[in-house]
Amino acid sequence: MPATMDRWRGLTRRISRRTLLARGAGLAAGITFGGVLSGAQARPNPARVFNHVNVIAMDRPGVLWDQAVLVADGLVRAVAPAMARIPEGIVSIPADGRFLMPGLADMHLHLASPADLLVLLANGVTTVRDMSGTRDKLAWERAVAAGSMPGPTIHVASPIVDGVPPVFDDLLTASTPATGRSLVDRFAADGYEFVKVYSELRYAVLVAMVERARLHGLRVVGHCSEKIGLVRALLAGQVGLEHLYGYAPLLVDQPAPWSGWDYAFGGVPIREERMPGLVATTLAAGAWNCPTLVALDRWVPQPQGAALMQRGVMRYVAPANRRWWDPATNFLVPAMAGQTDAALAQGRQVRRFVAGALHDGGAPLLLGTDAGSPYVEPGFSVHTELANLVEAGLHPYEALRTATVAAASFLGAAPPFGRIAPGQRADLVLLDANPLDDVANARPPLGVMVRGQWLDRGLLDGMLLAVERAYA
Ligand SMILES: [Zn+2]
Repeated sequence: MPATMDRWRGLTRRISRRTLLARGAGLAAGITFGGVLSGAQARPNPARVFNHVNVIAMDRPGVLWDQAVLVADGLVRAVAPAMARIPEGIVSIPADGRFLMPGLADMHLHLASPADLLVLLANGVTTVRDMSGTRDKLAWERAVAAGSMPGPTIHVASPIVDGVPPVFDDLLTASTPATGRSLVDRFAADGYEFVKVYSELRYAVLVAMVERARLHGLRVVGHCSEKIGLVRALLAGQVGLEHLYGYAPLLVDQPAPWSGWDYAFGGVPIREERMPGLVATTLAAGAWNCPTLVALDRWVPQPQGAALMQRGVMRYVAPANRRWWDPATNFLVPAMAGQTDAALAQGRQVRRFVAGALHDGGAPLLLGTDAGSPYVEPGFSVHTELANLVEAGLHPYEALRTATVAAASFLGAAPPFGRIAPGQRADLVLLDANPLDDVANARPPLGVMVRGQWLDRGLLDGMLLAVERAYA
């Protein structure tokens, strides 16, 4: 992380204050959030071309060299060999010899405010799924879709539904199938896209909620409940599994001493030979896993938490999150106290083993960060997760697929996104170097196009500066 932050800071420093003021309209002032947001929106949006650009189309594990990518009305219109002359009326974006890849999707995060959306854009993230919905977030989804607020395209899961007693006091709970069904009815009426379930839900309630969700055309996603277990959750029809919960307890012979990610294997060997069966079960159920390795890696005792809070990226974290992440008081404190480095390292290694085995066995993965949970900053963490997935054994191309093609396929988004081809949403990231060589090349972007709107590096830096000031 430090090397990366230096790259970001270097870029930020190179942008003079005058450029920022000229470019960012209200951005640099940053007095109110409304001002910040309106500065970046509603710029004229002509047909544009990236010429002589190298395209990571994401439909093959290679590069289409020296192409022209034409964008109009928010969609990619053409991908063809580079043009000798650019027709009149088409604006050229400087892209000679650069690399163009689809925008990235963070499929598991918790937005704190509209400012998070700017941090995400600055990191090349053009689609997000919020996993603890509220009516405010539905309003942000509509505002972004209508073009009245800058940001990635937002998909919102319902408020979290837990069993009784819930993991956190402020969660909705359903202790009977009838309550579960009526919550699902309410979520459908409100316009949520997924039903999010949690760690203490009971089997009969999950079954009732899945059934009801199907009537509304919704899917049930979330934690594999500890009261249900992986196999029954899959049988019940839960199609989204977060944080790889549910796998570890079946890989050890002793019951897990603490809920969620079982840190304390504490030297207990895992039974790797059981994994192929779990992969087959997952595959047969058609379920998708969103490992969120970056979030689980940050479940650490207080001293390491305090160090994470000192990182430069913390300036882009909403003050409310900084407060609840306080390493002395957050929810990790009791569980993490006394965890040894060896136990943490084992958890890290087992999670990578599980994610890698799922991927190798063809069970699909989605990239998610759980940004908003302790020590996980929005946007930057997507790049950490790409590197984590490579550590888990994915080729850079496969890691990038989890954040592009796979996300689009899971969401069934229309217009589609995640590839660079005619008819795809014009969500694009321009890079200096090839991300298929190394996912670290996916940052920082030279510019980001979101639904056809071009944000160059100066504007992205202006957004980051505005967020930093708003969050100061
Ligand atoms: Zn989460």
